[in-house]
Amino acid sequence: MKVHEYQGKEILRKFGVTTPDGRVAFSVDEAVAAAEALGGKIWVVKAQIHAGGRGKGGGVKLARSLEEVREHATAILGMQLVTHQTGPAGQEVRRLYIEQGCDIARELYVGMLLDRAVGRLVIMASTEGGMDIEKVAAETPELIHKVWIDPALGFRDFQARQICFALGLGEKQQMRAATVFLRGLYNAYVEYDCTLAEINPLVVTGSGDVICLDAKLNFDDNALYRHKDVVAMRDLDEEDPSEVEAGKHGLSFIKLDGNIGCLVNGAGLAMATMDTIKLFGGDPANFLDVGGGATAEKVASAFGIITSDPAVKAIFVNIFGGIMKCDVIAEGVITAVKTTGLDMPLIVRLEGTNVDKGKAMLAASGLNILAVDTMAEGAKAAVAATGV
Ligand code: GDP
Ligand code: MN
Repeated sequence: MKVHEYQGKEILRKFGVTTPDGRVAFSVDEAVAAAEALGGKIWVVKAQIHAGGRGKGGGVKLARSLEEVREHATAILGMQLVTHQTGPAGQEVRRLYIEQGCDIARELYVGMLLDRAVGRLVIMASTEGGMDIEKVAAETPELIHKVWIDPALGFRDFQARQICFALGLGEKQQMRAATVFLRGLYNAYVEYDCTLAEINPLVVTGSGDVICLDAKLNFDDNALYRHKDVVAMRDLDEEDPSEVEAGKHGLSFIKLDGNIGCLVNGAGLAMATMDTIKLFGGDPANFLDVGGGATAEKVASAFGIITSDPAVKAIFVNIFGGIMKCDVIAEGVITAVKTTGLDMPLIVRLEGTNVDKGKAMLAASGLNILAVDTMAEGAKAAVAATGV
């Protein structure tokens, strides 16, 4: 799960991380009132969407008067903000964050995530903050300094000092402030079961303070049950509607760019199905795992979600009946085809418990369903049906 920058900062502040003062605003008037309440002479008007690169896309603007706050808020609120992370369609801006301006001397980068290759959390730090860190990683990887954290020892002070030296924060006041920041970031990450914490930029101000200017926190969905405060921060406007709908039915669904809808049980089989479609030159429209305990209703709702995507030109159902029996799937498929009045090629491959019964039901339904015996056959047929 993702949260907005202002929500991420709210969490980080609890762990002693220094951020500028700021307030969220849902309207232009609220934005101006927020700036007035914050005081000062310079403000930053920031679009709140779940994507980075807002600055380059015109979603972060400096204001030197309340009139300018009003101008920028009017321009940004409601705009379709396009960044390298939103895709070409962009994302509508529904919230703003009004922050006190800050006098930036240097922009640094600090990110934290799990390094799966070594099974440890890694903190990545770079002097090349404020810009695309992906570009830095690709072109000048030596400018990204990494520190791996031993899970038994936790984050140690010597590691904080290593990062400080790599970032050119050797001076006493800055090293102290940066250490407080790094410790806070680490504690927040662990305590909140994060999957990513990225501060870009972490800035050094003209007066030598170290301040977190941007915050991106992602959380492990499987641990959300113990973070009610994070769940309360969820913004459904920022999520794909079909993924939200799938979540309500207990389906694991991820929307993709292709045109072959996939309905599969088990994450492993779902990935293998997508690979097989790719192998035969096609493109899956989604990842969909209906899970082990799926009912006929669940299968029917999965169909509804797949067909609501106008890009889908064919559907490939690939089910291994274990706990879930093939006849139950067949029943779900038949119900779904009838209720949705499905009018595109449907390829079904069933295997496992009650497979003969399931196939017989499909054949007896009189519906236009192509039943196949193997995954390869099914994938080939689906690709052929989309006219590739
Ligand atoms: P992102 O583009 O989505 O990553 O949004 P950021 O929060 O990182 O803001 C983008 C850029 O705006 C930063 O890298 C800064 O250069 C600039 N910026 C943000 N806040 C301030 C501020 O208070 N003062 C100044 N001068 N620049 C700021
Ligand atoms: Mn940023």
